[in-house]
Amino acid sequence: MMTPTTMSSHEAVTTLCDIGRRCYARGWALGTSGNFSAVLSRDPFELAITASGVAKGTLHPSHIIHCDDQGHSICDAPGTPSAETLLHVIVARKRQAGAVLHTHSVWSTILSDAGAAGGGVAIEGYEMLKGLAGVTTHEHREWIPILENDQDMPRLARRVAQTLSDHPSSHAFLLRRHGMYTWGDSLVDAERHVEILEFLLETVGRASAVGGTSWRF
Ligand SMILES: [Zn+2]
Repeated sequence: MMTPTTMSSHEAVTTLCDIGRRCYARGWALGTSGNFSAVLSRDPFELAITASGVAKGTLHPSHIIHCDDQGHSICDAPGTPSAETLLHVIVARKRQAGAVLHTHSVWSTILSDAGAAGGGVAIEGYEMLKGLAGVTTHEHREWIPILENDQDMPRLARRVAQTLSDHPSSHAFLLRRHGMYTWGDSLVDAERHVEILEFLLETVGRASAVGGTSWRF
């Protein structure tokens, strides 16, 4: 017997398209970059995710593919699931996330390179940190791990799984010179995390450029 779906398929598809347009408008998912997913069912596992190679500014419901935990399409829609589907599956499983969003913003790309030698980016002391799930004070210290980019997705998925285990409190991770992954219990929560984290990364990046608060570990 199937367990209840996490969210309705129609709601997930509509919201994923809306999120794509909003992230594109903010410059966080230009061109075909980025990918977005929502968990529809955990047993059996079913994910709604953006198709590979589609422009995020003009996402259409036909661009959302339903797939299993191996990243294989299980629907009749044309196209293939995002090449990074395995990373979404790992995050959804390890964090019990209901949604996973991946952006390619300028600031996440810059800081993913600048912070790579230290293994991550530390952000603390900002009021906006309270937008992250479970954070109640600006005194929180958020550690965002950085992983080397890799085109071998099974290998990268294993490294992501290890990173999530090593940093159980982190709300996101960065892929070097690539972009950011974050997640949430729902698409609403995950989109809020994108907005909060993109704000924080841009803020510490700009602050560092003018000699302000350091983001370094
Ligand atoms: Zn990407």
